[in-house]
Amino acid sequence: MKSLVILGSTGSIGTQALEVCRRDGYKVEALAAGGNIELLEAQAREFNVKAVAVFNEEKAKELKIKLKDTDVKVLSGADGVCELAGMKADITLNSIVGIAGLRPTLAAIESGKDIALANKETLVTGGDIVNREATKKGVKILPVDSEHSAIFQSLQGAPKGSLKKILLTASGGPFFGKTKSDLENVTVKEALAHPNWSMGAKITIDSATLMNKGLEVIEAVHLFGISANDIEVLVHRQSILHSAVELTDGAVIGQLGTPDMRLPIQYALTYPERSNYAFEKLSLADIGTLTFQKPDTETFKCLPLCISAINEGGLRPTAVNGANEEAVRLFLEGKIKFLQIAELVEKAAYSVENKKDFTLEDILYTDKAARQAVLNNI
Ligand code: NDP
Repeated sequence: MKSLVILGSTGSIGTQALEVCRRDGYKVEALAAGGNIELLEAQAREFNVKAVAVFNEEKAKELKIKLKDTDVKVLSGADGVCELAGMKADITLNSIVGIAGLRPTLAAIESGKDIALANKETLVTGGDIVNREATKKGVKILPVDSEHSAIFQSLQGAPKGSLKKILLTASGGPFFGKTKSDLENVTVKEALAHPNWSMGAKITIDSATLMNKGLEVIEAVHLFGISANDIEVLVHRQSILHSAVELTDGAVIGQLGTPDMRLPIQYALTYPERSNYAFEKLSLADIGTLTFQKPDTETFKCLPLCISAINEGGLRPTAVNGANEEAVRLFLEGKIKFLQIAELVEKAAYSVENKKDFTLEDILYTDKAARQAVLNNI
């Protein structure tokens, strides 16, 4: 059985990853979180881990006291999370939310471990660097995002060079079919009510604005080496076809399943094997109808904004991502309206300087500058 380090273990993906570990018997070596030390303590005790890391330094101190009857090592801060990411194990699962996941991904690559990657912001901001370092170290990046897992699964057995196009499916979120004026006064509660998936707050808001699909286009460009112009986004309300590929001979191959993240998490851990156990099984007869339509890119501007950003390249996707993280935080705190998210992101992302050749420091600088530009514009 493989051994694992899980980053972001207290979140939506992290807790589902631990469910997979609990059932399939993976050895969990270490866990990291932002600040939810109550849950982290319970997880550390249940899985008898060697170490934990807490981003929030004060919370880390509290956890150290709580765990003083155990041998669990408690690390703290961004550096502690990176140190934990590099600990000895077969695979690091990164389910931290936001660009905070980028340095830990690089630390895990540096340690030579394969990465099961849920943290899409890692690739959106640092895709070029991550791919370069992973190639250097011979490390595999295994997608956990359901769409990218579906694409990855659909490509198993496809000859190199046979990928022509990606069909990236989108649920459409809670506001599918709404006009701009309908969206004028939507509340945080309404935006958090996703029809098909139960996820963390940030990605749920990203799903409502279609920013999530835009970030996924960028993620797919880095994972599958395809141009954004060869990715077709399709609104598929049922979230049953998790995405598909079109090959050079015209064959379209997709992966279907219930909307349940435990399958893509499980596949990233068993790859290239398959688990003998299924979580929820799919009954197509019960579903009956699958529908597909084009997204409304006039109302939901974040999707075309991401496509322009990746086509421009350089640091533009980082600027879009940083501005979005800030705008979503402000929306969740009730400080801006829903429609302001896209407006602020566009304005801020294009107010920062772009560069074609860049370092990790440039990415972190651009992220900060884009966040500040959002704050300057409210
Ligand atoms: P959640 O908000 O539910 O969880 C985020 C996790 O990250 C928590 O464990 C949180 O800790 C931790 N965290 C936050 N900041 C830091 C930090 N600076 N250092 C260390 N840990 C930190 O998010 P999700 O699980 O929904 O999403 C995680 C990632 O997976 C995102 O990138 C998302 O886009 C992606 N994803 C999620 C899917 C889903 O179904 N949820 C589907 C596909 C992709 P704490 O709880 O202590 O704050």
